[in-house]
Amino acid sequence: DMKQIAAYYDATGQVDFFGVVGSGCDTHNSLANVIPNMSYPPEPFLHLAAGIKNVVKVPVIHAQNIKDPHQAQRILEGGYVDLVGMTRAHIADPHLIAKIKMGQIDQIKQCVGANYCIDRQYQGLDVLCIQNAATAREYMGLPHIIEKSEGPKRKVVVVGGGPGGMEAARVAAERGHDVTLFEAAQALGGQISIAARAPQRDQIAGITRWYQLELARLNVDLRLGTRADEATLLDLRPDIVVLATGGQPFLSQVPGWEYSEDPAESLVVSTWDVLSGKVAPGRNVLIYDAICEFSGVSAADYLADKGAKVEIVTDDIKPGAAVGGTTFPTYYRSLYEKEVIMTSDLALHKVYREGDSLVAVLENEYTGALEERVVDQVVVENGVRPDEALYFALKAQSRNKGQLDLEALYAIQPQPCLVEERGQEGDDFLLFRLGDCTAPRNIHAAIYDALRICKDF
Ligand code: SF4
Repeated sequence: DMKQIAAYYDATGQVDFFGVVGSGCDTHNSLANVIPNMSYPPEPFLHLAAGIKNVVKVPVIHAQNIKDPHQAQRILEGGYVDLVGMTRAHIADPHLIAKIKMGQIDQIKQCVGANYCIDRQYQGLDVLCIQNAATAREYMGLPHIIEKSEGPKRKVVVVGGGPGGMEAARVAAERGHDVTLFEAAQALGGQISIAARAPQRDQIAGITRWYQLELARLNVDLRLGTRADEATLLDLRPDIVVLATGGQPFLSQVPGWEYSEDPAESLVVSTWDVLSGKVAPGRNVLIYDAICEFSGVSAADYLADKGAKVEIVTDDIKPGAAVGGTTFPTYYRSLYEKEVIMTSDLALHKVYREGDSLVAVLENEYTGALEERVVDQVVVENGVRPDEALYFALKAQSRNKGQLDLEALYAIQPQPCLVEERGQEGDDFLLFRLGDCTAPRNIHAAIYDALRICKDF
């Protein structure tokens, strides 16, 4: 039908070009196709645009999941369309064209299809990028290009290789400082590495891949597989210590969950335990999701993919309530297909063992009525609790007592302690913490913290 319609209008001579968009946006489910998230392959609707190009004379533009210059070049050289639109690609990296021109294609921050940008737009919020805290904040003075510092070269030690720590190391190194980054795991990524193990979510690892390339280019001294303690850090005689040590799943909050660090002793396990492969999938699983972000629905998708019978329960209005409008539909498609039961308005009150089974006691949020499920695994998503041990070990010794000046932070101004006179070289250091080791937050917020603080080192 569209080919006939396009050919008709083309023949009128009144049309300058056609912009072809696959799918429609009349339902939540079809809208998800229009701005394909990371669960889609590259250019999923190019064939539709190519079909229109076959029947019209004026140029055809297409823009759906075209993120990479080589991909764009292949599409144009193949003659499928005349112009490609790369919208999110420019939100993720507004310097995309400049980097192509300068032969710096490897330095392009490639969009990973997280749809943090578009999902915020549909809520009437500013269009922020999950991995680029400067986009849409240029007017506030947040830089895309980090200039070299005119001050003294400093020894900066970053602890934690998740998004906040990677951004802190990148920005400090761009400023020209001598940067060491400690990460306890064997690879960078932090919680991104766990998230990427879920079905539909592997492309989120692209955030880490860009940082790996950038940290190598900037000669950051990476100490992977190394858990930094107080003595290790002080041995390096740092001028600045940035803690981005993250957090741990907060399962100890509810006594009735009888959580223990040892999964064999514990009645509940975390979404991290399951997604990371630390704990084998159960056969008959109840997931309790008190947060309703990505982790709960990702764990449900993962477990169902492994053959488990899964029910995901939340006390919120629906499972995945905080997952954005162009992203929750692809989860729902997958969960319905895999016959995952989705239940709202119930809080996990307690768990007890009965023979070989676990009994989960659920309490209706509005009536207080109790009901039970008999399962063999209870997975809980309850956010993270900051990992603060290193912060409190170092706080008293630091020159700024580990304090951030919040007014300066919000105003995107340098931290006052950075511009004060330094003490005797090597005798003290400045201490900052960011990301989940301050309070639970998301990838974007951790990166935003890091850029705001470290751009003035
Ligand atoms: S938020 Fe995600 S989808 Fe949007 S531009 Fe950034 S990486 Fe791409």
